[in-house]
Amino acid sequence: MAAHYAALKDLPAVTTDGVKVELMANIGTHMDVDNALNYGAEGVGLFRSEFVFMGRQDIPNEEDQFKAYKEAVEKCNGNLCVIRTMDIGGDKPLPYLNIPHEDNPFLGYRAVRISLQRRDLFLPQLKAILRAGKFGKVGIMIPMIINVSEFKKVKEFIEEAKVELTHEGKAFADDVQVGIMVETPAAAVMTPVLAKYVDFFSIGTNDLVQYTLACDRGNINISYLYNHFNPAVLRLIQRTITSARENGIWAGMCGEMASDPNAAVLLMAMGIHELSMSAPSIPRVKEKIRNISSTKAKEILADVMKMEDGDEIKAYLAKIL
Ligand code: PEP
Ligand code: MG
Repeated sequence: MAAHYAALKDLPAVTTDGVKVELMANIGTHMDVDNALNYGAEGVGLFRSEFVFMGRQDIPNEEDQFKAYKEAVEKCNGNLCVIRTMDIGGDKPLPYLNIPHEDNPFLGYRAVRISLQRRDLFLPQLKAILRAGKFGKVGIMIPMIINVSEFKKVKEFIEEAKVELTHEGKAFADDVQVGIMVETPAAAVMTPVLAKYVDFFSIGTNDLVQYTLACDRGNINISYLYNHFNPAVLRLIQRTITSARENGIWAGMCGEMASDPNAAVLLMAMGIHELSMSAPSIPRVKEKIRNISSTKAKEILADVMKMEDGDEIKAYLAKIL
């Protein structure tokens, strides 16, 4: 890490006029936490738990999962550790689940859609996370939500997991925050309603951009369309953050957009509370935020929201920032 970045490690991501944004890390295993803290992460904003399920021949049981989550939570030293329930399907197949071939896996049987149909998978995972919550500060995050009713079903599962843990005499945290990824246009549009049920939003722009722009996130032939500064995407993000603020919950982002320093300035101006990214991106995002005032960032945001084209916005930000 460059020396001037290393010097930022213990400094907050705060603007020149005192607006703070939490910078957290995206991780795939508990072994990533130490590295994340070294880069100055203030916790984990996305633990992609599907990695606990991958690279093996069978479903990890509650105990295996508990060990993996507990290690990550403990290493966070009292900082928040947001564990996302498994996001299998889409671009992450898992042979032992025997998911039938699908023509459109990104629009198919994935993430919470699998969890809600497979209690044999979902309950042990929730129990393991709730138990890990005893060793620090934990959030449960649900991927691919499109409506309120899915979230209500998730909450029923969580209650069931708590009842089972109580019967089994296993210690668990009762106060775990439960939030959702906002990564579908439907969820983003419905955030004013969803905000009444959830404890937090984390915007997953990797999928939100793909679904909003009908643009496969991995297709290089159309990568010129895949732009997180597209005005339609920016409006959904602004709406999500505003919904959170109006309902007294926090909103963060854990998609790749969060690691773009120019985007971070816009997001801060929109009122985002937290940005979660791959650890090595933290210093440059922090540096950008520490070198601007929120007043200036809001002026830039106002200009950007008047623009009609994502490429124009991207070029404008590259020039002005
Ligand atoms: C996202 O969609 O932005 C996200 C963080 O989830 P994933 O990349 O794992 O789909
Ligand atoms: Mg996603």
